[in-house]
Amino acid sequence: MSKKGKIIAVANQKGGVGKTTTSINLAAALALMQKKVLLIDSDPQGNASSGLGIVLQKGDQHLYHALTGGVPPLRVIRQTSVKNLSIMPTNIDLVAAEIELISISDREKQLSSILDGSICNNFDFLLIDCPPSLGLLTVNALTAADSVLIPMQCEYFAMEGLAQLVSTIRSVKKSFNTDLYMECLLLTMFDKRNRLTHQVADEISRHFSKQLFKTVIPRNVRLSECPSHGKAIFDYDNLSTGARSYNELASEFLTNQRI
Ligand code: ATP
Ligand code: MG
Repeated sequence: MSKKGKIIAVANQKGGVGKTTTSINLAAALALMQKKVLLIDSDPQGNASSGLGIVLQKGDQHLYHALTGGVPPLRVIRQTSVKNLSIMPTNIDLVAAEIELISISDREKQLSSILDGSICNNFDFLLIDCPPSLGLLTVNALTAADSVLIPMQCEYFAMEGLAQLVSTIRSVKKSFNTDLYMECLLLTMFDKRNRLTHQVADEISRHFSKQLFKTVIPRNVRLSECPSHGKAIFDYDNLSTGARSYNELASEFLTNQRI
């Protein structure tokens, strides 16, 4: 009998903190470790889709159609160029979903209901790349997820944003998804020469020591280049520090699953 795959929402309402870079490269690293992975692009910006070289043509069906149009979700899933890594892509049309969902009963549970059963059973891990907001798309992701992984950049307002996110996670947990838990926080774009980076990292680890990945993702120019080539870091520059870091993150992530 197949086992239900684990769903992880990659979320932070703060923009540009490394959600998409982490979603793509953690998903790719796990896939290269022989795990079957589905990346769900739940951000109308469609960065996870284009970052993996998926270009949607007019008329192509994607997450929006599965979420609000009754299209069978299996029909919108595509294989990526990375073995074992599939994607449920999206584009700017997903903006409309946030508005259309408002009038649906169980509006928070739509993503959960399309991932149930046949989709979940086909994968070991399902990663959801969330948009930079705490709107209905993020609430749907948190409602569908088993856990939430929070990428954070070590900068001045990081902790304020985190408090808001933790409060949203608590209310989703209370109302829609009692089993939701925090996977871990991930420090991204870490610049070890910057003093503020170290101060913020210290503050985060004081508050969340047990919920912080030991792996830190450094600022690495190769990571910022690969989306424009439509490739995960492992296909773009497998020897870069970015590739090494995301590989290390995937190993730590898998080790944590056995606890
Ligand atoms: P949004 O909130 O808009 O969805 P995001 O949280 O998904 O943004 P990313 O798109 O992953 O963030 O990253 C923001 C920018 O920083 C991108 O240009 C990305 O290429 C770059 N970037 C992400 N991580 C790194 C890194 N470790 N080193 C260098 N550049 C990075
Ligand atoms: Mg993004």
